[in-house]
Amino acid sequence: MKTQIGIIGGGPSGLLLSQLLHKQGIDSVVLEKHSRAYVLGRIRAGVLEHGFADLMREAGVGARMDAEGEVHTGFDIAYDGMRHHVDLKGLTGGNSVIVYGQADLTRDLYDAREKTGGAVIHGVENVQPCDLTSDNPFITFEKDGEKQRLDCDYIIGADGFHGVSRKAIPRDKIKEFERVYPFGWLGVLSETKPVSPELIYAKHERGFALCSLRSQMLSRYYIQVPLSKTVQDWSDDAFWAELKKRLPEDVSSQLETGPSIEKSIAPLRSFVAEPMRYGNMFLAGDAAHIVPPTGARGLNSAASDIYYLYHAMLDHYKKGDDAGLENYSQKALARVWKGQRFSWWMTMLLHNFPETSGFDRKLQQTDLDYLFSSDSAMKSLAENYVGLPF
Ligand SMILES: Cc1cc2nc3c(=O)[nH]c(=O)nc-3n(C[C@H](O)[C@H](O)[C@H](O)COP(=O)(O)OP(=O)(O)OC[C@H]3O[C@@H](n4cnc5c(N)ncnc54)[C@H](O)[C@@H]3O)c2cc1C
Repeated sequence: MKTQIGIIGGGPSGLLLSQLLHKQGIDSVVLEKHSRAYVLGRIRAGVLEHGFADLMREAGVGARMDAEGEVHTGFDIAYDGMRHHVDLKGLTGGNSVIVYGQADLTRDLYDAREKTGGAVIHGVENVQPCDLTSDNPFITFEKDGEKQRLDCDYIIGADGFHGVSRKAIPRDKIKEFERVYPFGWLGVLSETKPVSPELIYAKHERGFALCSLRSQMLSRYYIQVPLSKTVQDWSDDAFWAELKKRLPEDVSSQLETGPSIEKSIAPLRSFVAEPMRYGNMFLAGDAAHIVPPTGARGLNSAASDIYYLYHAMLDHYKKGDDAGLENYSQKALARVWKGQRFSWWMTMLLHNFPETSGFDRKLQQTDLDYLFSSDSAMKSLAENYVGLPF
């Protein structure tokens, strides 16, 4: 089998790049380890930067997002029983975010690839990117027990944090930077009316909580939990009771509870691998970097990688100009690190750290007081939250 771009991973990064390239007549094949149903069953991101939304429209898959996604022009931070409003629109001169579930946008991308005959091969095993530093890289994999080979001009490693692409780079050619946080997020999805039309981030002495949503009939709530417990240790009742304790009274009294339709614990980690290119393989999205979900940057950082890669590929194939490919890693990482800084800062600001000293707690309170009393600090938060320019 032969294609121009061999993409490992059929998550949002791989599918979005494949669809964008298709619109420009550039051929790709996507290799995905799991079934489509499995990929669509993962409940993850929900807050899209306006730049990401524009990229979806450019890929010709923005219609459902625009019709069903919710434009959010602000959110609240609850602290000390008070709610502080972050007016994203006012603070950024008109920008906002769109709340639209990752599963929905992935479905839109799958549908678009299917409609146009795009090659997305599910259920592949033993995927291996090979000959990466040659002009003829290829990917080997097994499908239904049969060994296959995909020859391509370039390989994109978009196979998430646990994928094979990053691991195929020799250890002395890649540097990894990591911070692991001593807690996770227990998330519950429920078919209940969201307690607030916009997101509420809550900082509380019992731990962080987030009231989020996917639509006005589908709520997504999170609480910070120790990693010593498993999801089985949390009954729905225990989750709702703990969430209520962490929210201001005017919010908890309005909270509609119901059975969870999905419940999971996500550990929190900051991670970046540098560089994001090895020979003719380019890493994109979670394969190269992950953030704690606090600042809603993960999927959005993946989108900026795709934006740079897409333009680099266009320049290569349409103009014979390789500057974009040469500069990809440097350009992508510059934005990735800004997303890392913001996610780390939001995480440090809003969570309880079991081992922190009195000094660190005082600094955290001062950071919050400063934020709520300074227009400049609020502007910086809003500018990062809606997404820095690509
Ligand atoms: C609880 C939670 C909440 C989040 N909330 C937000 C948010 O609000 N906003 C935000 O921006 N981000 C958020 N994120 C992060 C976001 O979900 C990820 O950044 C996003 O999924 C990255 O997309 P990706 O395509 O790069 O990687 P993935 O979605 O991980 O996709 C990689 C794909 O590669 C496949 N794969 C893996 N190994 C192989 C292999 N060997 N061969 C072939 N295929 C393989 C996988 O099956 C997968 O489908 C959240 C994440 C979590 C866990």
